Amino acid sequence: MSVNPEKSTDVLLEARHLSASHGQLVAVREVSLQLRAGETVALVGSNGAGKTTLMRTLAGVHPAQGGSVWLGGDEVSARPAHQRVQQGLALVPEGRRLFADMTVRENLLLAQEHRGRLRDGGAGWTIERVVQALPALQPLMNRPAGALSGGQRQAAAIARALMTNPRVLLIDEVSLGLSPRAVDEVYQHLHDLRREAGTTLLLVEQDLGRAMAFADRVLCLREGRIVLAAAAAGLDRQLVTDAYFGVEHAT
Ligand code: ATP
Repeated sequence: MSVNPEKSTDVLLEARHLSASHGQLVAVREVSLQLRAGETVALVGSNGAGKTTLMRTLAGVHPAQGGSVWLGGDEVSARPAHQRVQQGLALVPEGRRLFADMTVRENLLLAQEHRGRLRDGGAGWTIERVVQALPALQPLMNRPAGALSGGQRQAAAIARALMTNPRVLLIDEVSLGLSPRAVDEVYQHLHDLRREAGTTLLLVEQDLGRAMAFADRVLCLREGRIVLAAAAAGLDRQLVTDAYFGVEHAT
């Protein structure tokens, strides 16, 4: 393990010139980003921009082709996904990937087994605490995950990630496939989580308005590169849309 000489306690997750491919296709190109403790960052971009590949590469479930990933100031590039989970990096993947035949409770308990030791001496997430944070799960705990609706599955997947005591939560496609009401509920959960637990969040969100309203910062990815990085407050929506589609501005 190498230790970052510029170790900053403020930066929790960092990518430096991170690249990743699918065969010949380079999906993530030299991406550098930093997430500070307690910050919410939304990753936006059109279909195929590389958002999912970037999230998976940060989490260690997709191999990096180049560059590095740092967590809490330590380089984790060579560590497999489960070790990154133990260090506090949790991914809620697109499609959620819960064990359909297991109950919600069993899914959560399984995740608990994979968590690392708490780094800050805090209380840590228990089933009770998770249900308090996501009360919609209370009546669903004994249901098979495969019987849940989309919004319920998303809440259960977030709960499962919390059981690993993450310092940073990566959530791919927060609202994909959910009804407007379920999206509202999921964001309410995330809002409460951020307020009460101070969780640092990196979200992929297709709904630009939602991303800008919820996040502190917005990163726009196009063809595997970050083409716009800006504070969400006061950000001109047209600017993001243009970055999204690659509209050139005369200078
Ligand atoms: P979407 O919103 O459609 O999920 P995205 O921004 O998350 O898009 P990725 O899914 O990361 O983008 O895809 C980036 C590029 O990599 C695209 O060109 C995509 O076709 C390609 N790609 C993604 N997954 C695979 C795969 N398993 N095999 C081959 N190519 C892939």
